[in-house]
Amino acid sequence: DRCRVTILHFNDVYNIEERPNTEPVGGAARFATAMGKYRDQNPLVFFSGDCLNPSMMSSITKGKQMVPILNSLKVKAAVYGNHDFDFGVDELEDVTMETKFPWLMSNVIDTLTDKPLADGLEKTVITWGTKKIGLIGLVEEEWLVTLATVDKDDLKYLDYVEEGRRLAKELKEEGVDLVIALTHMRWPNDVRLAEQVEEIDLILGGHDHDYDVKKVNGKYIVKSGTEFRNFTKVEVDFIGPKYEISTMKIEVTSAYREDVEMKKIVEEFTSLMSDKTATTLGRIESELDGRFATVRTQESALGNFLTDVMVAATQADLAILNSGTLRSDSVHSAGDFTIKDLLTILPLIDPLVVLEATGTQIIQALENGVSQYPKTEGRFPQVSGIMFGFDPEGPPGSRVDPNSVKVDGEYLVPEKVYRVCTKAYIARGKDGYDVFKDCKPLTDPDEGPILSTVIQNHFTAVDIVKGLKPCRSGHHQSLIHVASVAK
Ligand SMILES: [Zn+2]
Repeated sequence: DRCRVTILHFNDVYNIEERPNTEPVGGAARFATAMGKYRDQNPLVFFSGDCLNPSMMSSITKGKQMVPILNSLKVKAAVYGNHDFDFGVDELEDVTMETKFPWLMSNVIDTLTDKPLADGLEKTVITWGTKKIGLIGLVEEEWLVTLATVDKDDLKYLDYVEEGRRLAKELKEEGVDLVIALTHMRWPNDVRLAEQVEEIDLILGGHDHDYDVKKVNGKYIVKSGTEFRNFTKVEVDFIGPKYEISTMKIEVTSAYREDVEMKKIVEEFTSLMSDKTATTLGRIESELDGRFATVRTQESALGNFLTDVMVAATQADLAILNSGTLRSDSVHSAGDFTIKDLLTILPLIDPLVVLEATGTQIIQALENGVSQYPKTEGRFPQVSGIMFGFDPEGPPGSRVDPNSVKVDGEYLVPEKVYRVCTKAYIARGKDGYDVFKDCKPLTDPDEGPILSTVIQNHFTAVDIVKGLKPCRSGHHQSLIHVASVAK
């Protein structure tokens, strides 16, 4: 009684186009050809999450391009990743209704429905010949509690070890031959899962983008890279009730030709992008001045708007954004605010991060921000939740009057710890904001919400609150607090 089950695994795909000039070039079209080589083995294709965002295309499509792509790759099951929630639970459910395979979410309960979050499945069983393969989908708490579009108080998180063990046991009792955990978590959590749950036979993970395979406690943990550049062929050879597993890394280089059907899908969406940029996101009541001469020297309506949304989306005490982030260098008139406006102002994928900073550190950051004034330097800060005055004539480093600084209407306390939202780039100490390198990040800078995405979600949330758009799931991004609008 021998049989071989072939599994093809991938995770974390964002751009469907290939990257030029760097091997492996990846891209969905060559990826399809590379996977197609194993078609005669009738492979089980599994995906470990993160596909709907971030990419320039997704800021226009909200990730819809991934539906025909995942369907065409014949994915059999997937687990949700953090970025799949970037546009909210409603948008995610719209996508999963269109995909022809189940999405798993075994250890997060939506307390508004008492079911797994985003209508995920707790477990599923796939029959392959005489073999039954059981699947569960496990995620870590770390990214779950930082989602901008889901309030963590609406979630019940169950430990992936406890829940993984319970479900894997159930599956084994139901006669499943192999239990696979699709996971979206960092390496140490996958290792803990492998060490502590005997009933799981194989872990196919995501979230980490570096390709790696490890054997822990006698079982394989596989992470298959990113961006359609790599995938893993896993062969499970059953010999009676026992099995042997081997893995092989496949690199999607330009040596693979582009699959014709998949290339059509990619081209359809790249051409759609240019048409869609005229789409209106919402209305703005007053003009937003994004000229460098304005945003790099003074408080501005545009800077206030963006940073107010940053505070609202992350529930931080205040936000500091370097004005160099704002790229449009033009005035956006009142009225319709389009995707083109948004992408002209924020063309880059800028993840946000929340840091713990003391009052003293915040003043140091502001000092850096105004140190180059009146030069129109990109470090000049746009802020929300905080007010301050500075003396432009003072020596750089001593321009901010500490007695002028207020957070949420209260004078800044030097030794008090505040939650500061900024972008990951600034948190890494760039643009002279070295002080933030010493601050403890409360959220993962690599996986934070994307600035342009939270701005888009703000307009969606406004429509929901105004009753212009229904919200089936009950989850949406928080709106700007009245106090910060009034400043
Ligand atoms: Zn991820």
